[in-house]
Amino acid sequence: NYQTELLRERLEIFVRGDSIPEPILSFGSCDLPQKLVQNLEATGYEMPTPVQMQAIPTALIGQSILVSAQTGSGKTCSYLVPIVCRCIKIKNNPQKPLALVLTPTRELCIQVEEQAKLLGKGLPFKTALVVGGDAMAGQVYRIKQGVSMIVGTPGRLIDMLIKHDVELDSISILVLDEVDCMVEQGFYEQVMQIFQALSQPQVLMYSATISKQVEKVANSLARDIAYISVGRPNK
Ligand code: ADP
Ligand code: MG
Repeated sequence: NYQTELLRERLEIFVRGDSIPEPILSFGSCDLPQKLVQNLEATGYEMPTPVQMQAIPTALIGQSILVSAQTGSGKTCSYLVPIVCRCIKIKNNPQKPLALVLTPTRELCIQVEEQAKLLGKGLPFKTALVVGGDAMAGQVYRIKQGVSMIVGTPGRLIDMLIKHDVELDSISILVLDEVDCMVEQGFYEQVMQIFQALSQPQVLMYSATISKQVEKVANSLARDIAYISVGRPNK
């Protein structure tokens, strides 16, 4: 409606797609678990950023999204909140991984996991890293012990899938962070290969820039994508 359009205009949120919910103006306003809202506050996140205002409610209704927003706009939390939310609401015992986050680098994976730990503090939400530089056996062991979310790089995850029987068919949310960088670094085939091991997850894709290749990835992984872009596009 008109109010929603005005709000989006003011926040420089642009959307394309069917039935995209209106932006949330606070973390308390979309039925998130109380403890998660407390954790957001404890992390110093009092208000959602514009990308979070629009991406969180859209992801929460199960919609696949392609989000473009500048570096520093708070994209990480905009997918971690829906992930934590789903993971603690679904009965998941023994714990099987429900979310898989792929990023182009080990360092980024470590940062994402750190933020996830802050948001999942005190909640039944465990995470595992699948990146190079640490022993793979330990990473496999941790996953088998039961985790809700795996954060990894495509190359290392493929390596793990080849060498160990790690089941990914419980994954219901796939996140591709920094899709533009992943494409530039030649991860397209690997991402597709990983996607084949999943059973039709909701896909949340994030990029600072949208190129033909980024669109190609998006269209290969999901139908009925909601497009969200925030701020002036950086070329
Ligand atoms: P992006 O992935 O879009 O580059 P990040 O997710 O890395 O951005 O977030 C950038 C910075 O903003 C981080 O330091 C993060 O902790 C902080 N941040 C994210 N969301 C909020 C928020 N709602 N309130 C305050 N700070 C936030
Ligand atoms: Mg980021």
